[in-house]
Amino acid sequence: MGSTAWKRKQRAKGLCLYCKRPAMLGETLCAKHTWTHRQAQAKWTQRNPIKRRAARAAEYRHRKSAGLCVGCGSLLDPDADRGRVTCSNCRANLYRHPTWKGA
Ligand SMILES: [Zn+2]
Ligand SMILES: [Zn+2]
Repeated sequence: MGSTAWKRKQRAKGLCLYCKRPAMLGETLCAKHTWTHRQAQAKWTQRNPIKRRAARAAEYRHRKSAGLCVGCGSLLDPDADRGRVTCSNCRANLYRHPTWKGA
């Protein structure tokens, strides 16, 4: 797979990150690769529901211990975000989307 710089270039040109076809609207991959990617992801999730949960939990712990927002991974503000595990941005999202059960 190409470098991140290459990916950035492809994205800027509106092309698929895996091939030279144009990417679908709002996606970084072409129709074919968006589909294969989704299929692979769905299969993996089906096969590894516990691993997936463990990976998310590990990420949560890592972010929490590193003083990062558990929602998006950005650095927390020591004053504004004191005693919290999510950044003001994520808290605003949480407020706007009450069904989102992130942090
Ligand atoms: Zn493609
Ligand atoms: Zn956040």
